[in-house]
Amino acid sequence: MKKYVSYDKLLLTCIIVLFSIYLSITLISTSFADYTTTATCSHTALGVQYSEVAHPHKYFRTCKSCNTKVYVGGHATKNHGDGSWGSGTCPQCGSHSYPIPTVDQINASLKQHPHIVGVKCKCGSVKYTDPQINPDCSSCISTYNIKSKSATGNSVLYLSYLDGDSGAAISTTFPVPVKMTFQSKYSKSGSNFTSYSSKITCVFNQNSVPPEAKSRLHLFATAQVDYYNSSNSKLYTNTLSAPASNPMPASRTGGKFSKSPIPSYSLAGATGYAEGLIPPRSVSVKLTYTF
Ligand SMILES: [Zn+2]
Ligand SMILES: [Zn+2]
Ligand SMILES: [Zn+2]
Ligand SMILES: [Zn+2]
Repeated sequence: MKKYVSYDKLLLTCIIVLFSIYLSITLISTSFADYTTTATCSHTALGVQYSEVAHPHKYFRTCKSCNTKVYVGGHATKNHGDGSWGSGTCPQCGSHSYPIPTVDQINASLKQHPHIVGVKCKCGSVKYTDPQINPDCSSCISTYNIKSKSATGNSVLYLSYLDGDSGAAISTTFPVPVKMTFQSKYSKSGSNFTSYSSKITCVFNQNSVPPEAKSRLHLFATAQVDYYNSSNSKLYTNTLSAPASNPMPASRTGGKFSKSPIPSYSLAGATGYAEGLIPPRSVSVKLTYTF
């Protein structure tokens, strides 16, 4: 009999404990809900609608009688910005927009490793660009395993001009020896160059140029560099830049490019011609890419 009562008491205790847990959970959730979304009061005279300063800027009205903050539904959307007082902006409303890094910023970033540029949204958030690879930076050279190769070739441009004074358009041919140096710095990942830069420098020997051909002679580094695979099939061509002030320079540099697949070798070189009907001649120097 005693045993029976004891079980009864235990059961009752359990029920009371469970009920109080249920009650407290209900009370907590109700008060939380009241505070955030459904606070109300028995009065009807509410003040003007305003939106909360904190995102998401819910609309509230304050009861004139008991000062209860009553959520009236919906929320305001502000302009994207730093959220400073009086600006009417909020960093969480809208979305970030970051400016494109300027050439000056990129050039400045190349001086310090890693070469990243921080661009700032009008809200103050800063995003960093992917690191640039600078083939002249010692940290990049070791990080990206940048190879530096140079090839020098000596060749002769056999150029011709038509001697108009003779009346019979006799062509005169003369040699222009040229020393070409092609330098390249490159790294790869898979079958792509991850960095690539190049420079061609040509030194022309004009000792054998006939005096009457000198004024019509043009000698320059070839703009196009051709890239080949190991079966001597041309893969692609890259164009090296020239300054606007000198479209036919003896030296040209090529900026970064990424093309696939990685070539076996490239042919860069020199071009020359004398104004007239005879087409230009070109010679080249071969650089083989090894890793
Ligand atoms: Zn009230
Ligand atoms: Zn907001
Ligand atoms: Zn932003
Ligand atoms: Zn670097």
